[in-house]
Amino acid sequence: MSKVQLDNFPIGLVVTTAEGHAVLHGNKDFYRLCQQTPQSLSLLTSILTPASKIIVESFVMPLLLHEGHCSEIQLTINTPSGDKIPVLVNALMHSAEKDSIYWAISSAQKRDDLYQELINLRNDLEDKAERLKQLSETDELTKLLNRRAFVADARTMIKQAKRNNLSYSFMMLDIDHFKHINDQLGHFVGDKVIADVGALLKKYCRENDLTARIGGEEFAIFSTSNATDSASQFAEKLLKVFSSEDIQGLNVTVSIGVATSLSDDFDTLYKTADRLLYQAKKNGRNQFCAHFFT
Ligand code: GH3
Ligand code: MG
Ligand code: MG
Repeated sequence: MSKVQLDNFPIGLVVTTAEGHAVLHGNKDFYRLCQQTPQSLSLLTSILTPASKIIVESFVMPLLLHEGHCSEIQLTINTPSGDKIPVLVNALMHSAEKDSIYWAISSAQKRDDLYQELINLRNDLEDKAERLKQLSETDELTKLLNRRAFVADARTMIKQAKRNNLSYSFMMLDIDHFKHINDQLGHFVGDKVIADVGALLKKYCRENDLTARIGGEEFAIFSTSNATDSASQFAEKLLKVFSSEDIQGLNVTVSIGVATSLSDDFDTLYKTADRLLYQAKKNGRNQFCAHFFT
């Protein structure tokens, strides 16, 4: 094949010595790709990045000496203008005359760009999926867990607690006479009160507790306990917090039902906490009723 014909190939073709990689012949596309001329370039390895040089010495050369060829190796070329061009390399060493290597070098820039685009797209989708998951689990007004997420997480926590022989508590809170707040000050202020109550609960709950808004002005806390901080003590503390806090200029109180168990399922705990909350309301509000299953 004549030099003119080799120059017409839309791929960089270059022949080097096996030792030292001195360039013997290069076609037009090769010099265009590495932005060099036959006069400016004598050693093929001189245009490679340090990492690519290591790949050639430690991987490509042993493979060529052993197998006679290697394919689809990705290397990076440094250009005189300071660009780094990813290239795909196939190389061949004749079995008879082991003194020269035939290289076919093509740009992998588009492939790299596409790959990067796919990675960006995947990261973007992962972010969106995470955001959607958060939205589907969060109550918009208080940013606490919503009822659905709370129930699912609490069921998981019950299984864990049973395995570790820990007691677990379901605390149900309801704002007292909330209808009055709405009626007297409007729903907008009512919403602010709900948000403030949620923030207070979040502030005083432990990091591992589940804190949720499960209804209009109803909240739930699920926690696994240890001997030193019982759910009843926590309920008492919350009552004190609410009696001392100013919420939208109002004295807001809550009633609480607390069910604690070592073995009961979620539904039983839920029903009991609900019944105890009702009891606390009946007893005069701003108090808690608790029960410990054995
Ligand atoms: P109790 O002490 O017995 O709990 O009395 P209450 O007035 O708090 O309870 P009731 O169930 O009679 O009224 C609760 C009110 O909460 C009725 C409903 O309109 C209001 N509500 C429910 N969801 C929201 C909300 O998202 N925002 C506001 N502002 N009000 C809500
Ligand atoms: Mg209420
Ligand atoms: Mg209620």
